[in-house]
Amino acid sequence: MAECKPAWLSATQFERGLAAFEAVLDAEGFHPTPTAAAEFRDPFAPSDWQDFLPSAALQPNSVEQVQAIVRLANEHKIPLWTSSQGRNNGYGGAAPRIAGSVVLNLRRLNRVIDIDEESAFALIEPGVRFFDLYDAIQTSGAKLWMSVPDLGWGSVIGNTCDHGVGYTPTGDHVAHQCGMEVVLPDGSLLRTGMGAMQGNKAWQVHKRGFGPSLDGIFMQSSLGIVTKMGVWLMPRPECYMPGWLTVGKEEDFPAMIDALRPLLIEGVIPNQPMIYNAVCAASAVTERKDWYEGKDPMPDTVIDRIAEQPGLGRWVMRFALYGRDGIIDRQREIVEQAFAHISSIAISFNKYDAANLPELENPHERVQAGIPSNDLNQMTKWYGGEEGGHIGFSSVLPVTGRDMATLRDLVRAKLEAKGLDYSAACIASGRTLIHVALVVFDMKDAEQTQAAYDACKALVEPAAKLGFGEYRAHLDFMDLVADQYDFGGHASRRVHETLKDALDPNGILAPGKQGIWPAALRDPAARNK
Ligand SMILES: Cc1cc2nc3c(=O)[nH]c(=O)nc-3n(C[C@H](O)[C@H](O)[C@H](O)COP(=O)(O)OP(=O)(O)OC[C@H]3O[C@@H](n4cnc5c(N)ncnc54)[C@H](O)[C@@H]3O)c2cc1C
Repeated sequence: MAECKPAWLSATQFERGLAAFEAVLDAEGFHPTPTAAAEFRDPFAPSDWQDFLPSAALQPNSVEQVQAIVRLANEHKIPLWTSSQGRNNGYGGAAPRIAGSVVLNLRRLNRVIDIDEESAFALIEPGVRFFDLYDAIQTSGAKLWMSVPDLGWGSVIGNTCDHGVGYTPTGDHVAHQCGMEVVLPDGSLLRTGMGAMQGNKAWQVHKRGFGPSLDGIFMQSSLGIVTKMGVWLMPRPECYMPGWLTVGKEEDFPAMIDALRPLLIEGVIPNQPMIYNAVCAASAVTERKDWYEGKDPMPDTVIDRIAEQPGLGRWVMRFALYGRDGIIDRQREIVEQAFAHISSIAISFNKYDAANLPELENPHERVQAGIPSNDLNQMTKWYGGEEGGHIGFSSVLPVTGRDMATLRDLVRAKLEAKGLDYSAACIASGRTLIHVALVVFDMKDAEQTQAAYDACKALVEPAAKLGFGEYRAHLDFMDLVADQYDFGGHASRRVHETLKDALDPNGILAPGKQGIWPAALRDPAARNK
């Protein structure tokens, strides 16, 4: 008897579906119970939560198997929840939005199909982790650099599909993907852009095809399963110059953001700088108990003590310059001049010959050179050590000091009202800041865990009222975030639903992803019967 299943199927119907999946997979790819699928639960969800529990997991090893699974899911009305590596930690991991869904995990599709040094791109499958792509580039001998997020264990495609970010000049991953192969909800295969033409030579170099561009509708999406994707890489620069900027006084922070904006828009700073507050910077190398044992939110006196440590500040920005010797020296001068009027700011740089990089000890310097690492996972251990949890509350704002200050004050107040520390990492990208509140908690502490999830939900509407939306959200408040995108009486939701109904009439792909529900489950009551 099935322990967990989609609510609208009988146990017999569900078991019949599972048997059909088993027939098209090998033993390694078939995990038919919640226990067998345990590694695809949200690692940071309380253990007694059943809301996002997967019933089973499937790990196909070919595109044909993915297609067969999708066709069977239609036949048996079984919802599938796609992941590539399935390490979307902080946003729900690999867990599905609706309990009883079957996880379709693509780790076994793990080929780096092509690395093209001439045009600086790679063509990869969904199971390829950042570590794998890095190794493949090194092995090929190509003089190319890639972008990585702070953790290298995720997949390039999964991260891109959830609008993820990295920290070299190709760190806006959506902007640097080019050409997809997608299994559609009916099991048929599509290639986007120039790939729509058989044998076309420009699939990985030209982002558009003929007619409306389709790639965007397969990201943060329940309309298809990406089975191949092109990724743009950057030529290895002559020099690599990571920099650190510290802001000693909290009141100087808005001015620092305003001074940063023109450097980003002009391209003087070409990568995606990360700006941490003192708590977040400390969490990369220490635990909370090293600073403060109080149950209340960390007071400013303690935060100041952290900020006074060498290399830290109330806020710290990591960033990097890349390019020809001499040119980046001039860029460095421009950066230094841009912040010279702010008295509490200090800036330092390291300069490396990129062709002969030494072993970089600092994980921040590795990440900005596109070298994968998992060291920064330490941040989740702030409260609970090995049992520390984390939710990303990730709002988007313009790069202005006034918006930054408004959002900072709101998020800090809401977290502190729930007894939590305000830990923030802001990713700057061109005209945008993504303010990620790392809502950290101790999973052993049920009350604090609940407070963390409640704090995120309590933030969504006030942030929207101030003009800030989330670019990505945990399963627990995905619907609430989607509700805020309300222009034109939720015109955007209506278009999403129209596409969903047309392409996936049985609603089998990722129901509820980004708050988009198939027709049969649009009424919340229908999801439990
Ligand atoms: C300490 C810490 C630091 C982090 N730092 C970063 C960071 O710097 N940048 C960042 O972006 N994130 C970061 N994250 C969040 C997350 O860990 C990464 O984004 C990670 O790369 C996502 O996991 P994945 O690549 O395995 O994606 P997956 O879990 O495989 O996929 C994520 C989502 O994308 C969709 N998807 C995946 N594969 C497909 C497919 N083949 N077809 C269609 N849709 C698909 C699904 O909706 C899925 O839920 C961090 C998390 C933690 C805990």
